[in-house]
Amino acid sequence: MPDPSNNQNLDAKANLADRDHKVIWHPYTQMKNALPHIPIIRGEGAYIFDENGKKYIDAVSSWWVNIHGHSHPYIAEKVAEQLTTLEHVIFAGFTHEPAVLLAERLLPLLPGKQDKVFYTDNGSTAVEVALKMCLQYWDNLGKPKTKILAFKNAYHGDTFGAMSVSGRSIFTDAFNSLLFDVEFIDLPNQENIDQLINFISNSTETACFIFEPLILGSGGMLMYEAEYLDQLLLACKEANILTIADEVMTGFGRTGTYFACEKLINKPDIFCLSKGLTGGTMPLGVTTCTNEIYNAFLSDDKLKTLYHGHSFTANPIACVASLASLDILLRSETLQNIKRVEAKHAAFLAEIQSHSKVKTVRQTGTIIAIEWETGNETSYLSNLRNILYAYFLDKGIILRPLGNIIYILPPYIISNEDLDYIYDAIKSALEEI
Ligand SMILES: *Cc1c(COP(=O)(O)O)cnc(C)c1O
Repeated sequence: MPDPSNNQNLDAKANLADRDHKVIWHPYTQMKNALPHIPIIRGEGAYIFDENGKKYIDAVSSWWVNIHGHSHPYIAEKVAEQLTTLEHVIFAGFTHEPAVLLAERLLPLLPGKQDKVFYTDNGSTAVEVALKMCLQYWDNLGKPKTKILAFKNAYHGDTFGAMSVSGRSIFTDAFNSLLFDVEFIDLPNQENIDQLINFISNSTETACFIFEPLILGSGGMLMYEAEYLDQLLLACKEANILTIADEVMTGFGRTGTYFACEKLINKPDIFCLSKGLTGGTMPLGVTTCTNEIYNAFLSDDKLKTLYHGHSFTANPIACVASLASLDILLRSETLQNIKRVEAKHAAFLAEIQSHSKVKTVRQTGTIIAIEWETGNETSYLSNLRNILYAYFLDKGIILRPLGNIIYILPPYIISNEDLDYIYDAIKSALEEI
């Protein structure tokens, strides 16, 4: 008989990366030739530390979620308190103060007039709920519409509805035949805006338009002007098309204002939030809507109910983490940090934009993207990403280029010294690679 306790002891002595490889399937990773996954044992501020004590600057906010730095003591304190008070309760038939308080504080912060919060678990499910709200809204009103409008290179998540409204790419390739049809439009600019408005005006059968405001994240940090988005939203309003702002990445200060849609005159009907919501501490998603949408579900007819929910909907610990994260976000020093990072970024881009290996540079708030000149060599392009990733990792910086696009999306507390260190590493990469 094998002795399981003995077995565990043996395993514990093995390298953590090897043990990981035996039992874990990582996200977005070709496991056949994946490099060993680096065991991280601790996080503090803008840094994470591996098991050998090596320090890494987290220049991507741990997959875009961490806005105030790792292991934030204030969030930790609030979460610890909640853990021993109420860790979870079924959210149908019951409620709790952290969920109510978070909704009370979040709604007035959102651009326009948002009236109701629907809780989910992550960004993808926040998007699923938004789509269901829109489709069922029209159905409940007795005017069913099923067409959906989205941007060509959009990314809205990995569940089937969210994949359907995302641009078709290698991420969706294996499932394309099962995804529902969506009308994809180009990002608006001065040349195509009239044509896009015209298209929307003739889309009266369209239920909703979902968009990432100002910047398409996973699509390659593609940026576009608020002015043109505003015109698209106005056209949607006039054509009776509901609008969904997917602020999963842009929310909570990322673009320089608390929410990207603050830069618009016309406001969306629905917001999807996640990532920075809990300060990157725990998974939580939120879909908010106007009373106009909410009221279309009030009925004696049971079929008009929004039949959606998740086991961990409105988890109290996650709600408390979000409340603590909001406290920090609203401190004046946080806004000062956001402005500081923005200004440093802008100065750096001005310095490197005319480098021969730099194709284009762009910035929205605390996010900058640098497109590496690759000419027409596609093999170079596919290798470049891995070379750059390893190059920065070696220097103790976590940057995950999207193809030939290097982007920085740091926690707002990152120091000027660390930003300079990252900029210098990018400048050396431009010389050496
Ligand atoms: C990350 C992301 C999502 C998906 O969120 P998950 O929590 O990863 O499911 C949706 N929309 C945008 C814009 C995102 O950046």
